[in-house]
Amino acid sequence: MNKKREREEYLEVLWRIKEDGIEDPDYLKNAFGSDFEPTIIEDLEQAGHILTGDNGSIVTLTDAGYEYARKIIRAHRIAEKLICDALGGDFESGACEFEHILNTDLVDSICVLLGHPRRCPHGKPIPQGDCCKTAARTVQSPVMPLTELESGMSGRVAFINYSDDMQIYKMDTLKIKPGGMIKLLQKSPSFVVSCEGGDVALDDAVASNILLWKEGGQFNAGGENMLGPGKCRRKRGFGFMRRKSA
Ligand SMILES: [Zn+2]
Ligand SMILES: [Zn+2]
Repeated sequence: MNKKREREEYLEVLWRIKEDGIEDPDYLKNAFGSDFEPTIIEDLEQAGHILTGDNGSIVTLTDAGYEYARKIIRAHRIAEKLICDALGGDFESGACEFEHILNTDLVDSICVLLGHPRRCPHGKPIPQGDCCKTAARTVQSPVMPLTELESGMSGRVAFINYSDDMQIYKMDTLKIKPGGMIKLLQKSPSFVVSCEGGDVALDDAVASNILLWKEGGQFNAGGENMLGPGKCRRKRGFGFMRRKSA
């Protein structure tokens, strides 16, 4: 593993410590076990990315380190989303390679393509990029929210922007998932859809977070279903959300 990559792995763990509010002072050390390398900490401090305490044990991210880590986390989670939703691959191994390669422009392009997803497949928030802030949705986006579908029309689910764990659970129960077909039966007084799990009413917030491929969308051309059920090799249910690698 090269030095740059090693430093980035440490920054990633430091981000997670902050994000999850982990208070264990040995968490960083334990995360790398016998591979823990104190010189990486020195390198990061010299680069101005972290601050260490007097005894060298307390480590916090500086503003610059936070921004750097934010980019890595964003690349990692966008890559997970791409691999899981659009390519149907094993995102656990693939995303770790991507995060060190992707530059900001490329990450933003993928973000646009995916419709600016807010959560990774683990349900963790994806830090926003400039693309998300300036244009919530752009003309290039091949997806549209369920709320824009005409009543009586059907569409194929591209992905779902989960806002919380409860939603993941609900969508799982209803069998609303990437690749599945969904038909909009009515829009008012509430959204009612027909899906694999039956006919169900959805509130506006949930409906607007279900993204469908537009007709002729890039991954849907020729009627080829690249998002078939089970193609995304993630664990189902709640187990996958407790992984450390999230
Ligand atoms: Zn974006
Ligand atoms: Zn994740």
